[in-house]
Amino acid sequence: MRIVALAGGIGGARFLRGLKDVVAPGDEITVIGNTGDDIHLFGLKVCPDLDTVMYTLGGGIHEEQGWGRAGETFAVKEELAAYGVGPSWFGLGDKDFATHIVRTQMLAAGYPLSAVTEALCDRWQPGVRLLPMSDDRVETHVRITDERGTRAIHFQEYWVKLHAAVDAEAIIPVGAQTAKPAPGVLEAIAAADVILFPPSNPVVSIGTILAVPGIREAVAAAPAPVVGLSPIIGGAPVRGMADKVLAAVGVEASASAVALHYGKKGAEPSSSREGGDERLVGLLDGWLVDEADADSVAAVEAGGISCRAVPLLMSDPAATAAMARAALELAEQVRR
Ligand code: GDP
Ligand code: CA
Repeated sequence: MRIVALAGGIGGARFLRGLKDVVAPGDEITVIGNTGDDIHLFGLKVCPDLDTVMYTLGGGIHEEQGWGRAGETFAVKEELAAYGVGPSWFGLGDKDFATHIVRTQMLAAGYPLSAVTEALCDRWQPGVRLLPMSDDRVETHVRITDERGTRAIHFQEYWVKLHAAVDAEAIIPVGAQTAKPAPGVLEAIAAADVILFPPSNPVVSIGTILAVPGIREAVAAAPAPVVGLSPIIGGAPVRGMADKVLAAVGVEASASAVALHYGKKGAEPSSSREGGDERLVGLLDGWLVDEADADSVAAVEAGGISCRAVPLLMSDPAATAAMARAALELAEQVRR
């Protein structure tokens, strides 16, 4: 079986680890990773979501933190700070720096990001094919208004430095409209037997991947069933500030509202992101909500999306594997 999953960072990576535990030998998992979080720091190209997937599946992740390397040290960061060179709010450890140096060196030598990612994965052996959504530069920006006025800032500045404490007025995936899907992305979607949306951020992770022209259309046109898992439980994100970026696109932070935002496959979704000129079409055949949101199943099904309530907390490997199994089972139930 060929499984394709769209993924952001922590939520995507942890789910993928559970998925790897339940697939049969010989099944192939292709991950289409979000690169809208990418940022240039200290002259280096940093791809936080790709690296979170690679380190998590390759056994190098800092488990408690969910991002960055286990057993990390920060000598380079301290030396940079001693020179007064920032930013100090983005925590790059010494081991992590090596990844960004290798990546930047290969990009400078002319390799596309997809080839660089493959080379990095040669070391980590994540057990999935990890493709960036695009080889072209896309950077998510967030429009805010504060005492300095209205301006757009890089997503990382909004998320990591400001902790999303200011309201997000708009989410702008800069460069997305002219970006092309990376080699293999559209082919993997078209050839998939199952397409999964892990409980990644619907706006700045999965939404950004879908903002690359061609990817949303390919998912909508794919013969494979598309099943997603809610990152929202009981009206709040399990982790992080997804409610802030959902508000920016006019979507309530609830398990059912996120499902209806993605929309029933083939139908016009109930809400849409600003700015894109491509025709928006819905994507989902099936949706999983947490048991705490069992009363929202009816609303999702009324929108034409098959919905089940199951435990959705990735508290340990067994619980995460059970979520992946439930997603694959729902995919079989909705297969036409
Ligand atoms: P990021 O790029 O590191 O922010 O990670 P993702 O976009 O892949 O995932 C972030 C989302 O994962 C957040 O909106 C969380 O609510 C969600 N999430 C994290 N842990 C869990 C969990 O245990 N269960 C569910 N259902 N969602 C989770
Ligand atoms: Ca991310």
